[in-house]
Amino acid sequence: MNVAGPRWDPIAKAGRPVLPPNLDDYEKVYDRFRWDEARAAMDGLPGGRGLNIAHEAVDRHAEGPLAGRVALRCLDRHDRVTELTYARLRDETCRFANVLRALGVRKADRVFTLLGRVPELYVTALGTLKNTSVLSPLFPAFGPEPIRDRLRLGDGVVLVTSLDLYTRKIAQIRDELPGLRHVLIVGGSGAPPGTVSYREVMDGAAADFEIPPTGPEDMALLHFTSGTTGRPKGAVHVHEAVVAHHATAAYALDLKRGDVFWCTADPGWVTGTSYGIIAPLTHGATLLVDAAEFDVRRWYRILEEQRVSVWYTAPTALRMLMRYGTGPARGRDLSALRFVASVGEPLNPEAVVWGVEAFGLPVHDNWWQTETGAIMIGNYASMDIRPGSMGRPMPGVEAALLERGPDGRARVSAGRRVTVARGPEAEGELALRPGWPSMFRGYLHDDARYARAFAGGWYLTGDIARRDADGYYWFVARADDVIKSAGHLIGPFEVESALMEHEAVAEAGVIGRPDPVAGEVVKAFVTLRPGYEPDEETRRELIAFGRRRLASLAPKEIAFDRHLPHTRSGKVMRRLLKARELGLPEGDVSTLEQSP
Ligand code: ATP
Ligand code: MG
Repeated sequence: MNVAGPRWDPIAKAGRPVLPPNLDDYEKVYDRFRWDEARAAMDGLPGGRGLNIAHEAVDRHAEGPLAGRVALRCLDRHDRVTELTYARLRDETCRFANVLRALGVRKADRVFTLLGRVPELYVTALGTLKNTSVLSPLFPAFGPEPIRDRLRLGDGVVLVTSLDLYTRKIAQIRDELPGLRHVLIVGGSGAPPGTVSYREVMDGAAADFEIPPTGPEDMALLHFTSGTTGRPKGAVHVHEAVVAHHATAAYALDLKRGDVFWCTADPGWVTGTSYGIIAPLTHGATLLVDAAEFDVRRWYRILEEQRVSVWYTAPTALRMLMRYGTGPARGRDLSALRFVASVGEPLNPEAVVWGVEAFGLPVHDNWWQTETGAIMIGNYASMDIRPGSMGRPMPGVEAALLERGPDGRARVSAGRRVTVARGPEAEGELALRPGWPSMFRGYLHDDARYARAFAGGWYLTGDIARRDADGYYWFVARADDVIKSAGHLIGPFEVESALMEHEAVAEAGVIGRPDPVAGEVVKAFVTLRPGYEPDEETRRELIAFGRRRLASLAPKEIAFDRHLPHTRSGKVMRRLLKARELGLPEGDVSTLEQSP
């Protein structure tokens, strides 16, 4: 694919100079870094009994100077605040570990959560890890079927949920889950037959628990992928992953002791666990949690009132904020905010610049997957941002681009060999050299799929990227989303980003529609900003704008859509736009967000 360098330069457009890249620093950090040293720098269980995520996150801070510091500050929908200090979080998580032990829940048994972002979710998560059981957090907005499928696939032994969620979603599927031995009910009064009250068992449990020996390879987390491209897969992670959570949070999120850190992702997605539970605590930060969903005013208010210093969010949220312009940010005191980062989807260059206008800070994009467990590529703190680029590989991460075959994925020979694309403007399937600690150790019950994800000593990510002469990576497309039109290969993201530069466009999703002449034609689905009409005039204007900006890559067709389909983790579901366009079955839509 011939994707030239960035054809736009929004920072320059906004009248700000693009600073010369500070690559010296990056090279130094990258060259010096060793995973075994990062591992050795972790605390470890007393008596050399191994490495346990919950110990690194909580117990090691629970005595000493951080004991009285707030570890967890939870806001409920009505702004009521619950705070747990590190000492208190240690006690509560010990209690939960004792509850599991008393129930006969053992090492490697799966504990699922289906909860809103309430303090009990965090206590359950970390208490489960203390007991060396495996945590699998589910997103609470799932319907009964996706919940049942995941509990089955993951061999769920325990489920911690609320009375409301139990009544609406679990009671009807309980008979179909013979392996689910215990259901704990958080909140409310009383527990329905066949369930146990969380509060009652917690009240009866001791606040002391000795974490059993934990091997670095002991299974810790089971995370399901977002289902953007198909049926969600269950990725297995181990306790050693904490080394990567900790290190990458320092580099890619600039996280430090004493920060107030807000990660807007729900723990039902890997971001909401790696960085929405574990990493901020390993750093001794205060983890801020908001139970409510996105709301423009609320979010600015939280950033201001909670004195958030590091904020980790997603492109879809930033695009929603952008819809309202910088007005709602004006008059807000965001002086505590030091670092803003984004993940989950390509971050449109427009959003990087907008960050400067709204928060006085650019947004640092970073890239990773459920499978990688931690940030792999990022625009990190010591490095200047290139708007539209995902950044450079994290220290300890070796990335490459593999030459592609006709199916758009890396070309793999019969002997499973691959060819690394070289040169200053390389392009290909993004691959990573296995060996970083948070690397997934399998797709649960799908060994064949896991095996297929590796070739020639690389893990193949399924994403297509480009690397510029300075080693910055630029996301092009998911291999499944690449559009082939009249001899061009087109990444939807580039087209979407260009459209977003038009003031009428709030969000765009781009697909290839089959066409007898061109193979595929580029079709864009566009959500307009308030004040713009979805009429013929706007359509013509956007088509012309696209042509000026993108020439032969421009969309030939534009449709208006009030809400683009998103996964619940906030990604545009292009496969669904395409299936609907073609009148094909929608496939697995368990992670589809219901539009408001
Ligand atoms: P599924 O694998 O089930 O189709 P998914 O790939 O969306 O779903 P996740 O693991 O949540 O599941 O998302 C990882 C993917 O998200 C990456 O492979 C990439 O396509 C996309 N992604 C994440 N961060 C970025 C980013 N900064 N820029 C571009 N794409 C990103
Ligand atoms: Mg994926």
